[in-house]
Amino acid sequence: MGALDKLINGNIRLPSLPAIAVKILQAVKRDKQSFEDLGKIISSDPALTAKILSFANSSYFSLPYKVDSLEKAVGIIGTDALKNIALSFVIVKNFKDSKKNGFDYELFWKRSITAAVSAELISKKIGRRSDDIFVAALLMDIGIMVMHLCRPLDYQRVFDEKRAKGLSVIEAEKMVFGFDHQEVGSELLAQWKLPEEIYLPIRGHHKRPERQNKSLSTEAILFIADIASSVYHSSKSVKKLSLLKELLQTILDFKDDEIDEFVDEIGTKTIEVLSCFEIDPGDMKPYSELLQEANEELEKLNLSYEQLVMELKQAKEKAETLANELLEANKKLRDMAFRDGLTGLYNHRYFQELMDRELSRAERYNRPLSLVMVDIDHFKKINDTYGHPKGDIVLKTVSKIIRESIRDSDIAARYGGEEFAIVLPETDLKGAAAAAERLRRQVEAEKIKLNGKETSVTVSLGVASLERPGRGIKKSDIIDLADRALYKSKASGRNRVTLVSIK
Ligand code: GH3
Ligand code: MG
Ligand code: MG
Repeated sequence: MGALDKLINGNIRLPSLPAIAVKILQAVKRDKQSFEDLGKIISSDPALTAKILSFANSSYFSLPYKVDSLEKAVGIIGTDALKNIALSFVIVKNFKDSKKNGFDYELFWKRSITAAVSAELISKKIGRRSDDIFVAALLMDIGIMVMHLCRPLDYQRVFDEKRAKGLSVIEAEKMVFGFDHQEVGSELLAQWKLPEEIYLPIRGHHKRPERQNKSLSTEAILFIADIASSVYHSSKSVKKLSLLKELLQTILDFKDDEIDEFVDEIGTKTIEVLSCFEIDPGDMKPYSELLQEANEELEKLNLSYEQLVMELKQAKEKAETLANELLEANKKLRDMAFRDGLTGLYNHRYFQELMDRELSRAERYNRPLSLVMVDIDHFKKINDTYGHPKGDIVLKTVSKIIRESIRDSDIAARYGGEEFAIVLPETDLKGAAAAAERLRRQVEAEKIKLNGKETSVTVSLGVASLERPGRGIKKSDIIDLADRALYKSKASGRNRVTLVSIK
């Protein structure tokens, strides 16, 4: 059982070929050379005759002179061509006027005629003159019309499935009907007794053609013509255009400008042929406009791509800035945790950690390490005389002097109250003594303005130097010894340095 039988399932009358078309076909079959019968049949329909003449005179044929009779027309375009033109007109007219079941006949024929014009132009371009190609392309989708006619609701499902699942029309038809419009159309045209050259290729017009050496099959021409038609009639015309270009390039070896000229010609010729068929081209756009739309879409795509890249870049930069800020903030926070708020020197906690580190390092590398403890002399008196805030200024001033007087590798911390600790790695007693003495003199020399009055303070210092590490000396021992040295300075009159070497 063929697709057609399955489709109609015995209870639907298939559309039959209009009587005049049957006569035309019979006349040609009887005598291929004779034009007389054909002419007689066509002439019996003045409207058809007028259409054929207008078609023959259109730029589609580009005849060298105007033809005003069927005889002249057939003399130039041949019996077969005339037959096919007549058939086309008859069939289109017969199935155009009905607009039932939501099937848009006008659009259907618009697409089919565009495909027919495209197919004709392709075969002309590759030098494969065929009188049947126009009709074959014109009728290649007639299966769709018939399927729609017989089972409109099912065909609506084809559209739905196609859209919902992204299927090809063939896949969707097979899913809903179990067969497709290629089979139905081909069988119908065979039943109408159209020549094989027309109905056989229709069976395979949805198979994407491979690159062929010059001789293009009718199926291949139909396939390309179908795409060309959708360039002008599909909502996805930009996509279809790029597919068409690809096909023309890869299968027909067309050059870029050849393609543009070719697609443009399809548009202009189609509009003319449509008018011969008395079909309104409607919103069919000229190629130049389609091209512009395609370019605009491309630009939009490029633009959005560029925008995307830019946004990504900005986001990345922002993320980097944020990460840096976070890093900076963390560093600051960490730093703050180790700094004394008033003086900006390291705090007691940091001093303790640092001493651990430096002591183990001194031991590991057998290097000297010195600690200087500093205490401001009679600081209580400053507070008592000038007030606590002025005492703070003195603390800050002494801190500044300490910071500026030590080397980069030395580290000063506020040990507590008005007491400071300076860790001097890689420094023996002699070096530490010099540093302590220098600091003592600098503090002594500093004039500090408090309440408009110049004053100065002195400091007492205790230096403990670990000159031969590695004998289990503890951190607390060093601090203790430096502290004791400091108190020795206090006890022996202040403003002086006391040294102690840890051997
Ligand atoms: P000495 O010469 O024996 O060290 O006498 P001193 O007065 O400097 O020592 P003492 O330990 O008797 O007094 C220290 C004072 O330092 C007491 C305390 O109020 C003051 N002090 C501690 N921390 C701060 C501070 O952050 N700001 C101010 N303004 N004063 C402080
Ligand atoms: Mg003091
Ligand atoms: Mg003190």
